[in-house]
Amino acid sequence: PLNLIYLCISLYIIVNKQKYCSYSRNKLLLISFDGFRWDYDQDVDTPNLDQLALDGVKAKYITPPMLTMTSPSHFTTITGRWVEDHEVVHNMMFNSTTNLKVPHKQTLTRSEWWDNGVLPLWITAQNQGLKTASFHYPGGGANYSGQSVNRVLVEESNHPDDNETEWRQNIDQVMSWFSEEDFHLVTLYYGEPDNVGHAKGPDHPDRKKIIQQIDRTIGYLREAMSRHHLNDRLNVIITSDHGMTTVKKRPQVDEIIIRDYLNLLKLTSFEILDYGGFGIVTPRPGREQEVFDALSNAPNLTVYKKSQIPESFHLGKSERLPPIVIIADLGFNLNSRLIVYVNKGDHGFHNGEMDMKTIFRAFGPDFKSNFLSEPFDSIHIYPLMCELLQIDPAPHNGSLVVTKNLLLQSGGSQRTRLSLALLPLSMLLMFTVL
Ligand SMILES: [Zn+2]
Repeated sequence: PLNLIYLCISLYIIVNKQKYCSYSRNKLLLISFDGFRWDYDQDVDTPNLDQLALDGVKAKYITPPMLTMTSPSHFTTITGRWVEDHEVVHNMMFNSTTNLKVPHKQTLTRSEWWDNGVLPLWITAQNQGLKTASFHYPGGGANYSGQSVNRVLVEESNHPDDNETEWRQNIDQVMSWFSEEDFHLVTLYYGEPDNVGHAKGPDHPDRKKIIQQIDRTIGYLREAMSRHHLNDRLNVIITSDHGMTTVKKRPQVDEIIIRDYLNLLKLTSFEILDYGGFGIVTPRPGREQEVFDALSNAPNLTVYKKSQIPESFHLGKSERLPPIVIIADLGFNLNSRLIVYVNKGDHGFHNGEMDMKTIFRAFGPDFKSNFLSEPFDSIHIYPLMCELLQIDPAPHNGSLVVTKNLLLQSGGSQRTRLSLALLPLSMLLMFTVL
């Protein structure tokens, strides 16, 4: 029996040794470059991104959630929930009953659009004692169950997207939050290359220029990390929300004008069209089948009744989404009445299209180096971030199984939990023996 007691004591010590020897919690910076298509770095010279792939992890590409749009996709990344669960179902806040439509930037501080019972990572981390900040990241400016993010900067409506000097200042600011104020998690958002992708199209030379600017900024980030002595305690994830595709125009194709197929005035009471490849329509009472049939005849798009949206889209259970959803074929924009949409590039198309795929890069003390990952869904970034921060995740739709192979070792939080579970077990064993 004495041997057994010794065994239990040593087991307890071994388990706790692991606990105390496991790495201390490292900090996490999540950077999003809006609309960075997965292959944007392949036709441009990007020495800093190339070096990152050697020093860290690169996924071949990642798949955003269905609804390849800025706010819905960013919110999936920061919550680990599908769009039907977090209910941020558009960039524009809307109410199909009152016909309210709020432009994207003005939604950024409207909690009633973002706060639908799902807690984003900032709040979950804060509730477990961490300090978090959001720098221009979509959703950071809202309150969740009455709680706000510890430090928030919200992007102004007239904010310039492409000012390189400001990009560097933002990095300096974030680095001082980490090094001088001991923040654990910061999310940092940039509006490029989305802006130039819309305005000039993904194949324009200016898109290549902005990718080089992003590359220089990543070089600057790494210098700044060294300057602030953060290299061995800060993990960095660089990702994005969706890709970009060239808008098809005459004479190449006949553009979609919804009014040519559907009497909008007579059959519908609300719509958001004229917004890239994704459209929503509320039929007038009793007119749903007519709307569906009319749009079924329109070429170059697919129309869905909300109740018949494929489960794999993870959209159909949304209460907010109107009864009719339209997804245009790749490159076809949905125009309601006339073609006013002057964008040369757009998104919102099916997330299975390669042009909608986006990037994932990561480096830091907990990531493998020179590791090329197979593609995965962006929903799995959330449990990875929780693992890195050693916090218990809120309920989510992702899986750490998918992303933990990016890490050098499965993190300390699991080990801590294991040791805590084994403590009573070893005590019980000891008493049984006595
Ligand atoms: Zn976007």
